[in-house]
Amino acid sequence: MNLRPYQVNLINEIRKNIKFNSICVQSPCGSGKSVIQGMIAKNATMKKNRVLFLVHRKELCNQIEQTFILCNVDFHYCSVKMVQTVCRNVEKEPEPNIIITDENHHCLAMSYIKIYQAFPNAIKLGFTATPIRLGGKGLGSMYKVLIKGPDIDWLIQNKYLAPFKLFSKQIVNTDDLHIENGDYKKDEVNELMEKTFIYGQTIKNYTELAKGKKTIVYCSSIKSSIDTVEEFNNNGFTAAHLDAKTHKKERKEIVNKFRNNEIQILSNVDLFGEGFDVPDCECVILLRPTKSLSLYIQQSMRSMRYKENKTAIIIDHVGNCFEHGLPNHKHQWTLKDWPKRKKAEKEEKIKQCPECFAVFEPGINTCPYCGYEFTVKKKPEKKVKDIILEEITQTDILKMKPYSYYKKITTLKELIAFSEVKNYKAGFLIYKLDELKDQLEITFDDLVYIQKKYKYKFAWVIHRARTYKVSIPEKYNNYERHIS
Ligand SMILES: [Zn+2]
Repeated sequence: MNLRPYQVNLINEIRKNIKFNSICVQSPCGSGKSVIQGMIAKNATMKKNRVLFLVHRKELCNQIEQTFILCNVDFHYCSVKMVQTVCRNVEKEPEPNIIITDENHHCLAMSYIKIYQAFPNAIKLGFTATPIRLGGKGLGSMYKVLIKGPDIDWLIQNKYLAPFKLFSKQIVNTDDLHIENGDYKKDEVNELMEKTFIYGQTIKNYTELAKGKKTIVYCSSIKSSIDTVEEFNNNGFTAAHLDAKTHKKERKEIVNKFRNNEIQILSNVDLFGEGFDVPDCECVILLRPTKSLSLYIQQSMRSMRYKENKTAIIIDHVGNCFEHGLPNHKHQWTLKDWPKRKKAEKEEKIKQCPECFAVFEPGINTCPYCGYEFTVKKKPEKKVKDIILEEITQTDILKMKPYSYYKKITTLKELIAFSEVKNYKAGFLIYKLDELKDQLEITFDDLVYIQKKYKYKFAWVIHRARTYKVSIPEKYNNYERHIS
């Protein structure tokens, strides 16, 4: 088994820190963690040390065993098991010298803790791309040392991962979803995603951005996945659905067809997430809103397995990138708990092009995909027809903006339009008008528009105009007298 140089470095780092007895290794999706695990298991079993390898999904056992066979692990001294299985019969488990935990961000769950406590003398070695629990809890209570692998940009530059383009066309609004156990409430998500109107949007965007590319779709429920597949098939694409309950034989058949290009689009629910070995794809479509950074990164990076000349396309329909940043965001990994972030802070991580919906690092003023200039103010003259078209798209664009977009608005006209397309109540407009008064261009007519719409007294217009130093038409010069 040939190791890449950075994999050798990681193994050496682990060796140097083994004295600490509990080590968490962070390394990105697609960086080849199972080979590293295999080499460690091989070295341990060669010395007749017993290795217990914990996975949290049945499907992964076989896959890991295959890698371990390639690494020459001695299975007399190594067992690869589901965490639930070990947990149920922990007293029957021979005492391991090393416990290797895959997808280690789950390690604070009771089942893992029970196993760790049963073998206090074993060295704990945990691997994950995202050492953080849902809700931001760090893994410090379980692990003493964090070793960090290469970052994603480095892996892309060195051709271990494919570069990507991310487009966010948010077709649902997640602002009103409630949180349960750290993630969005499942039934609310399902209700939101099962509204049929979203499927047409999905097909339209796929056709525009990734037509013909081998694609994996991540859905939130079986129903929405089946509906998505049906819509793709009705539009002349070949798509298939898989979930955890799909019969093993059928699943294998479908995956093989996908591998052989007989199926272009594979839609699934929670199946091709953690570690599950799916064939290469070029595009992923995110249709499951999630608060889990781990899930988001695993799903979006599924398309980034390296292939020459490939650029992965990530289409995010549910605003996950606004929640978590780009998949290659340089997170400051730590074993400590993450501080609670404010919504505005999160969104500073990315910038979106209003023309092509591409999402990229903030600080870029020309869209790298379509050349849109962010600072251009002067508009070229347009024919009436173009203006009408433009107005339509502007409304569409406004509709897709997150709530916090209001902070970037510079005219009261746009603020009014924004509150209207979003169906916000009068309070939003009045409150934000006050908050943004120093940055907004306000005209007397805008104020009159609001006054009429919400049936305020005309005195409100005069009062606001004076407060915001908006020039008042001459005919109202004597208005003071009337109202006082
Ligand atoms: Zn653009």
